[in-house]
Amino acid sequence: MANHIATITKIAKDRTIDYATLTELLHERNEGLDSFISVKARKASADSFSGKVTLKGAVSISNVCKSDCFFCGIRKGNLSCKRFTLTKDEILDRVKLGYDNGIRNFELRGGESEELSDNDVVDIVTSIKGKYPDAVIELALGEKKYSSYLNFFRAGVKGYTLRFEAADAEVYSRLCPTSSIDNRQISIAYLKQVGFNAGSGFLVGAPFKKSDKLSTDILYIQEMSPNTIDIAPFIPHKDTPLAKFKAGSAEKTLFTISVLRLLCPQANIVASELLDLLDEKGREKAVAAGANVVTVSLDSEEADSLYNICDKETGYADPVKTIQNLKTKLSKLGFTAV
Ligand code: SF4
Repeated sequence: MANHIATITKIAKDRTIDYATLTELLHERNEGLDSFISVKARKASADSFSGKVTLKGAVSISNVCKSDCFFCGIRKGNLSCKRFTLTKDEILDRVKLGYDNGIRNFELRGGESEELSDNDVVDIVTSIKGKYPDAVIELALGEKKYSSYLNFFRAGVKGYTLRFEAADAEVYSRLCPTSSIDNRQISIAYLKQVGFNAGSGFLVGAPFKKSDKLSTDILYIQEMSPNTIDIAPFIPHKDTPLAKFKAGSAEKTLFTISVLRLLCPQANIVASELLDLLDEKGREKAVAAGANVVTVSLDSEEADSLYNICDKETGYADPVKTIQNLKTKLSKLGFTAV
Protein backbone atom coordinates (compact mmCIF):
# COMPACT_ATOMS: atom_id res chain seq x y z
CA MET A 1 0.00 0.00 0.00
CA ALA A 2 2.72 2.47 0.98
CA ASN A 3 4.40 2.09 -2.40
CA HIS A 4 1.18 2.73 -4.25
CA ILE A 5 0.36 5.78 -2.16
CA ALA A 6 3.81 7.12 -3.07
CA THR A 7 3.18 6.25 -6.72
CA ILE A 8 -0.13 8.13 -6.80
CA THR A 9 1.43 11.12 -5.06
CA LYS A 10 4.19 11.11 -7.65
CA ILE A 11 1.74 10.94 -10.58
CA ALA A 12 -0.15 13.90 -9.13
CA LYS A 13 3.09 15.86 -8.90
CA ASP A 14 4.97 14.82 -12.04
CA ARG A 15 2.04 13.87 -14.35
CA THR A 16 3.91 10.79 -15.46
CA ILE A 17 4.17 7.07 -14.71
CA ASP A 18 5.99 4.20 -16.38
CA TYR A 19 4.21 1.21 -17.88
CA ALA A 20 5.34 -1.41 -15.33
CA THR A 21 4.46 0.71 -12.29
CA LEU A 22 1.07 1.62 -13.77
CA THR A 23 0.27 -2.02 -14.52
CA GLU A 24 1.10 -2.99 -10.95
CA LEU A 25 -1.00 -0.13 -9.59
CA LEU A 26 -4.01 -1.10 -11.71
CA HIS A 27 -3.63 -4.75 -10.78
CA GLU A 28 -3.39 -4.09 -7.04
CA ARG A 29 -5.85 -1.22 -6.63
CA ASN A 30 -8.17 -1.53 -3.65
CA GLU A 31 -10.73 0.59 -1.82
CA GLY A 32 -8.13 2.54 0.13
CA LEU A 33 -6.26 3.46 -3.05
CA ASP A 34 -9.55 4.26 -4.81
CA SER A 35 -10.38 6.88 -2.23
CA PHE A 36 -6.83 8.24 -2.01
CA ILE A 37 -6.51 8.77 -5.77
CA SER A 38 -10.06 10.16 -6.13
CA VAL A 39 -9.32 12.97 -3.66
CA LYS A 40 -6.21 13.98 -5.64
CA ALA A 41 -8.04 13.68 -8.97
CA ARG A 42 -11.08 15.64 -7.76
CA LYS A 43 -8.80 18.47 -6.65
CA ALA A 44 -7.00 18.44 -10.02
CA SER A 45 -10.35 18.61 -11.82
CA ALA A 46 -11.68 21.42 -9.60
CA ASP A 47 -8.43 23.37 -10.14
CA SER A 48 -8.52 22.96 -13.93
CA PHE A 49 -12.22 23.72 -14.42
CA SER A 50 -12.91 26.07 -11.48
CA GLY A 51 -15.43 23.66 -9.97
CA LYS A 52 -17.61 23.56 -13.09
CA VAL A 53 -19.00 20.39 -14.63
CA THR A 54 -20.39 20.47 -18.17
CA LEU A 55 -23.62 18.61 -18.88
CA LYS A 56 -23.49 17.20 -22.40
CA GLY A 57 -26.82 16.27 -23.97
CA ALA A 58 -26.47 13.19 -26.15
CA VAL A 59 -28.91 12.56 -28.99
CA SER A 60 -28.75 9.11 -30.61
CA ILE A 61 -29.57 9.93 -34.23
CA SER A 62 -29.24 6.48 -35.83
CA ASN A 63 -28.43 2.92 -34.84
CA VAL A 64 -27.57 1.80 -38.37
CA CYS A 65 -23.95 0.60 -38.48
CA LYS A 66 -21.81 -1.08 -41.12
CA SER A 67 -19.25 -2.25 -38.56
CA ASP A 68 -19.38 -5.37 -36.50
CA CYS A 69 -17.69 -4.66 -33.19
CA PHE A 70 -18.16 -7.82 -31.17
CA PHE A 71 -19.15 -5.99 -27.96
CA CYS A 72 -21.83 -3.76 -29.49
CA GLY A 73 -25.56 -4.43 -29.65
CA ILE A 74 -26.10 -2.29 -32.75
CA ARG A 75 -23.36 -3.97 -34.82
CA LYS A 76 -24.47 -4.91 -38.32
CA GLY A 77 -24.38 -8.63 -37.51
CA ASN A 78 -27.15 -8.29 -34.93
CA LEU A 79 -30.11 -9.12 -37.11
CA SER A 80 -32.56 -8.81 -34.22
CA CYS A 81 -31.74 -5.12 -33.79
CA LYS A 82 -34.57 -2.95 -35.11
CA ARG A 83 -32.97 -0.03 -36.93
CA PHE A 84 -33.91 3.64 -36.77
CA THR A 85 -32.66 6.95 -38.08
CA LEU A 86 -34.18 10.17 -36.76
CA THR A 87 -35.45 12.86 -39.10
CA LYS A 88 -34.02 16.34 -38.86
CA ASP A 89 -37.15 17.54 -37.07
CA GLU A 90 -36.91 14.72 -34.53
CA ILE A 91 -33.28 15.63 -33.85
CA LEU A 92 -34.20 19.30 -33.45
CA ASP A 93 -36.95 18.32 -30.98
CA ARG A 94 -34.43 16.48 -28.83
CA VAL A 95 -31.97 19.37 -28.95
CA LYS A 96 -34.79 21.77 -27.99
CA LEU A 97 -35.64 19.59 -24.99
CA GLY A 98 -32.05 19.85 -23.79
CA TYR A 99 -31.68 23.54 -24.62
CA ASP A 100 -34.91 24.43 -22.79
CA ASN A 101 -33.48 22.69 -19.74
CA GLY A 102 -30.20 24.55 -19.73
CA ILE A 103 -28.03 22.25 -21.86
CA ARG A 104 -25.65 24.08 -24.22
CA ASN A 105 -23.34 21.24 -25.22
CA PHE A 106 -24.70 18.54 -27.48
CA GLU A 107 -23.36 15.34 -28.95
CA LEU A 108 -25.08 13.75 -31.94
CA ARG A 109 -24.07 10.11 -31.86
CA GLY A 110 -24.77 7.13 -34.05
CA GLY A 111 -23.46 4.03 -35.76
CA GLU A 112 -20.94 4.15 -38.58
CA SER A 113 -22.98 4.36 -41.76
CA GLU A 114 -23.93 6.35 -44.82
CA GLU A 115 -27.56 6.37 -43.72
CA LEU A 116 -27.11 10.11 -43.24
CA SER A 117 -24.97 11.68 -45.97
CA ASP A 118 -22.43 14.42 -45.24
CA ASN A 119 -24.96 16.89 -46.64
CA ASP A 120 -27.64 15.58 -44.26
CA VAL A 121 -25.32 15.99 -41.28
CA VAL A 122 -24.26 19.47 -42.40
CA ASP A 123 -27.91 20.43 -42.85
CA ILE A 124 -28.81 19.17 -39.35
CA VAL A 125 -25.86 20.99 -37.76
CA THR A 126 -26.63 24.19 -39.68
CA SER A 127 -30.25 24.07 -38.55
CA ILE A 128 -29.26 23.57 -34.90
CA LYS A 129 -26.75 26.43 -35.08
CA GLY A 130 -29.40 28.60 -36.78
CA LYS A 131 -31.84 28.10 -33.92
CA TYR A 132 -29.33 27.97 -31.09
CA PRO A 133 -26.19 29.94 -32.01
CA ASP A 134 -24.64 29.39 -28.58
CA ALA A 135 -25.01 25.60 -28.76
CA VAL A 136 -21.76 23.67 -28.91
CA ILE A 137 -22.18 20.70 -31.22
CA GLU A 138 -20.05 17.60 -31.22
CA LEU A 139 -20.38 14.44 -33.27
CA ALA A 140 -19.63 10.77 -32.64
CA LEU A 141 -20.51 9.03 -35.89
CA GLY A 142 -17.57 6.69 -36.37
CA GLU A 143 -14.74 6.72 -38.91
CA LYS A 144 -15.29 9.11 -41.82
CA LYS A 145 -13.18 10.40 -44.70
CA TYR A 146 -10.99 13.44 -44.05
CA SER A 147 -13.21 15.44 -46.43
CA SER A 148 -16.30 14.54 -44.36
CA TYR A 149 -14.66 15.71 -41.15
CA LEU A 150 -13.72 18.95 -42.91
CA ASN A 151 -17.32 19.47 -44.10
CA PHE A 152 -18.62 19.00 -40.57
CA PHE A 153 -16.00 21.31 -39.08
CA ARG A 154 -16.81 24.02 -41.61
CA ALA A 155 -20.51 23.67 -40.74
CA GLY A 156 -19.70 24.64 -37.17
CA VAL A 157 -19.13 21.29 -35.44
CA LYS A 158 -16.77 21.92 -32.56
CA GLY A 159 -15.70 18.44 -31.55
CA TYR A 160 -15.66 14.87 -32.78
CA THR A 161 -15.19 11.76 -30.67
CA LEU A 162 -13.76 8.57 -32.09
CA ARG A 163 -12.90 5.96 -29.49
CA PHE A 164 -10.17 3.43 -30.16
CA GLU A 165 -11.51 0.91 -27.60
CA ALA A 166 -8.15 -0.88 -27.26
CA ALA A 167 -4.72 0.35 -28.33
CA ASP A 168 -3.21 -3.13 -28.44
CA ALA A 169 -3.58 -4.42 -32.03
CA GLU A 170 -4.45 -7.98 -31.03
CA VAL A 171 -7.07 -6.95 -28.46
CA TYR A 172 -8.49 -4.44 -30.94
CA SER A 173 -8.89 -7.10 -33.62
CA ARG A 174 -10.72 -9.38 -31.17
CA LEU A 175 -13.13 -6.59 -30.20
CA CYS A 176 -13.53 -4.88 -33.58
CA PRO A 177 -12.76 -7.48 -36.28
CA THR A 178 -14.12 -5.44 -39.19
CA SER A 179 -11.76 -2.51 -38.73
CA SER A 180 -8.12 -2.00 -37.81
CA ILE A 181 -6.37 -0.08 -35.08
CA ASP A 182 -4.12 1.49 -37.73
CA ASN A 183 -7.08 2.99 -39.59
CA ARG A 184 -8.60 4.11 -36.33
CA GLN A 185 -5.40 5.88 -35.29
CA ILE A 186 -5.14 7.61 -38.67
CA SER A 187 -8.75 8.73 -38.38
CA ILE A 188 -8.18 10.08 -34.86
CA ALA A 189 -5.16 12.02 -36.16
CA TYR A 190 -7.39 13.56 -38.85
CA LEU A 191 -9.68 14.96 -36.16
CA LYS A 192 -6.91 17.15 -34.83
CA GLN A 193 -5.66 18.11 -38.27
CA VAL A 194 -9.12 19.30 -39.23
CA GLY A 195 -9.27 21.49 -36.13
CA PHE A 196 -11.82 19.65 -34.02
CA ASN A 197 -11.66 19.35 -30.30
CA ALA A 198 -10.71 15.71 -30.67
CA GLY A 199 -12.19 13.12 -28.36
CA SER A 200 -11.20 9.52 -27.87
CA GLY A 201 -11.42 6.75 -25.35
CA PHE A 202 -11.48 3.05 -24.67
CA LEU A 203 -13.29 0.25 -22.91
CA VAL A 204 -12.42 -0.70 -19.35
CA GLY A 205 -12.85 -4.33 -18.31
CA ALA A 206 -13.37 -5.60 -21.85
CA PRO A 207 -12.62 -9.26 -22.58
CA PHE A 208 -8.95 -9.98 -23.41
CA LYS A 209 -7.89 -6.77 -21.66
CA LYS A 210 -5.95 -7.32 -18.45
CA SER A 211 -4.20 -4.62 -16.42
CA ASP A 212 -1.19 -4.55 -18.76
CA LYS A 213 -3.41 -3.76 -21.76
CA LEU A 214 -5.28 -1.12 -19.77
CA SER A 215 -1.89 0.50 -19.05
CA THR A 216 -1.23 0.52 -22.78
CA ASP A 217 -4.54 2.34 -23.34
CA ILE A 218 -3.92 4.91 -20.61
CA LEU A 219 -0.38 5.74 -21.75
CA TYR A 220 -1.47 5.82 -25.39
CA ILE A 221 -4.19 8.33 -24.64
CA GLN A 222 -1.82 10.47 -22.60
CA GLU A 223 0.56 10.54 -25.57
CA MET A 224 -2.31 11.28 -27.97
CA SER A 225 -3.41 14.17 -25.73
CA PRO A 226 -7.01 14.52 -26.93
CA ASN A 227 -9.18 17.44 -25.80
CA THR A 228 -11.76 14.98 -24.51
CA ILE A 229 -11.31 11.54 -22.96
CA ASP A 230 -14.39 9.35 -23.04
CA ILE A 231 -13.96 5.93 -21.48
CA ALA A 232 -16.67 3.44 -20.58
CA PRO A 233 -16.95 0.11 -18.85
CA PHE A 234 -17.54 -2.96 -21.00
CA ILE A 235 -21.12 -4.16 -20.48
CA PRO A 236 -22.17 -7.21 -22.49
CA HIS A 237 -25.13 -7.34 -24.86
CA LYS A 238 -27.10 -10.56 -25.20
CA ASP A 239 -27.01 -10.57 -29.02
CA THR A 240 -23.24 -10.32 -29.44
CA PRO A 241 -20.39 -12.83 -29.57
CA LEU A 242 -19.16 -11.44 -26.22
CA ALA A 243 -22.52 -11.92 -24.47
CA LYS A 244 -21.17 -14.40 -21.96
CA PHE A 245 -18.28 -12.28 -20.73
CA LYS A 246 -18.51 -10.50 -17.38
CA ALA A 247 -19.09 -6.75 -17.34
CA GLY A 248 -16.20 -4.49 -16.37
CA SER A 249 -16.39 -2.96 -12.91
CA ALA A 250 -17.51 0.54 -12.00
CA GLU A 251 -14.67 0.74 -9.46
CA LYS A 252 -11.94 0.02 -11.99
CA THR A 253 -13.47 2.50 -14.44
CA LEU A 254 -13.56 5.19 -11.73
CA PHE A 255 -9.96 4.43 -10.76
CA THR A 256 -8.95 4.74 -14.42
CA ILE A 257 -10.70 8.12 -14.62
CA SER A 258 -8.67 9.28 -11.61
CA VAL A 259 -5.40 8.09 -13.14
CA LEU A 260 -6.27 9.87 -16.39
CA ARG A 261 -7.16 13.06 -14.54
CA LEU A 262 -3.76 13.09 -12.83
CA LEU A 263 -1.93 12.35 -16.08
CA CYS A 264 -4.00 14.75 -18.22
CA PRO A 265 -5.11 17.55 -15.87
CA GLN A 266 -6.45 19.82 -18.64
CA ALA A 267 -8.40 17.22 -20.62
CA ASN A 268 -12.17 17.06 -20.56
CA ILE A 269 -12.96 13.69 -19.00
CA VAL A 270 -16.44 12.30 -19.52
CA ALA A 271 -18.60 10.56 -16.93
CA SER A 272 -20.43 8.13 -19.21
CA GLU A 273 -24.09 7.35 -18.57
CA LEU A 274 -23.10 3.67 -18.94
CA LEU A 275 -21.54 3.89 -15.50
CA ASP A 276 -25.04 4.29 -14.06
CA LEU A 277 -25.89 0.83 -15.40
CA LEU A 278 -23.31 -0.64 -13.02
CA ASP A 279 -23.82 1.71 -10.09
CA GLU A 280 -26.83 4.00 -9.72
CA LYS A 281 -24.50 6.78 -8.60
CA GLY A 282 -21.99 6.05 -11.35
CA ARG A 283 -21.83 9.48 -12.96
CA GLU A 284 -21.68 11.34 -9.64
CA LYS A 285 -18.90 9.04 -8.50
CA ALA A 286 -17.07 9.68 -11.77
CA VAL A 287 -17.17 13.43 -11.11
CA ALA A 288 -15.93 12.77 -7.59
CA ALA A 289 -13.14 10.72 -9.22
CA GLY A 290 -12.04 13.54 -11.55
CA ALA A 291 -14.45 13.72 -14.50
CA ASN A 292 -15.66 17.19 -15.55
CA VAL A 293 -18.23 16.37 -18.25
CA VAL A 294 -21.40 14.38 -17.61
CA THR A 295 -23.32 12.82 -20.47
CA VAL A 296 -27.11 12.97 -20.29
CA SER A 297 -29.19 11.10 -22.84
CA LEU A 298 -31.86 13.29 -24.45
CA ASP A 299 -33.35 10.32 -26.31
CA SER A 300 -37.03 9.50 -26.48
CA GLU A 301 -38.04 6.24 -24.82
CA GLU A 302 -38.23 4.52 -28.20
CA ALA A 303 -34.80 5.69 -29.40
CA ASP A 304 -33.32 4.82 -26.01
CA SER A 305 -34.62 1.26 -26.27
CA LEU A 306 -33.27 0.88 -29.82
CA TYR A 307 -29.86 2.49 -29.25
CA ASN A 308 -28.95 -0.50 -27.13
CA ILE A 309 -25.22 -0.86 -27.49
CA CYS A 310 -25.26 -2.96 -24.30
CA ASP A 311 -27.90 -4.66 -22.16
CA LYS A 312 -29.70 -2.18 -19.96
CA GLU A 313 -31.41 -3.47 -16.88
CA THR A 314 -32.45 -0.07 -15.63
CA GLY A 315 -35.59 1.50 -17.11
CA TYR A 316 -35.87 4.61 -19.26
CA ALA A 317 -34.70 7.75 -17.49
CA ASP A 318 -36.69 10.88 -18.29
CA PRO A 319 -34.11 13.44 -19.55
CA VAL A 320 -35.67 16.44 -17.80
CA LYS A 321 -35.74 14.68 -14.42
CA THR A 322 -32.21 13.37 -14.99
CA ILE A 323 -30.88 16.86 -15.73
CA GLN A 324 -32.51 18.30 -12.60
CA ASN A 325 -31.31 15.39 -10.43
CA LEU A 326 -27.77 15.66 -11.71
CA LYS A 327 -27.65 19.41 -11.07
CA THR A 328 -28.75 18.85 -7.47
CA LYS A 329 -26.35 15.99 -6.87
CA LEU A 330 -23.39 17.79 -8.43
CA SER A 331 -24.11 20.84 -6.33
CA LYS A 332 -24.00 18.67 -3.20
CA LEU A 333 -20.56 17.52 -4.30
CA GLY A 334 -19.46 21.16 -4.55
CA PHE A 335 -19.58 21.42 -8.35
CA THR A 336 -21.67 23.75 -10.52
CA ALA A 337 -23.34 22.15 -13.53
CA VAL A 338 -23.11 24.29 -16.69
S1 SF4 B 1 -19.08 0.31 -31.53
FE1 SF4 B 1 -19.68 1.89 -33.03
S2 SF4 B 1 -18.72 1.19 -34.96
FE2 SF4 B 1 -18.72 -0.57 -33.59
S3 SF4 B 1 -20.60 -1.69 -34.10
FE3 SF4 B 1 -21.10 -0.30 -32.40
S4 SF4 B 1 -21.86 1.57 -33.33
FE4 SF4 B 1 -20.83 0.37 -34.91
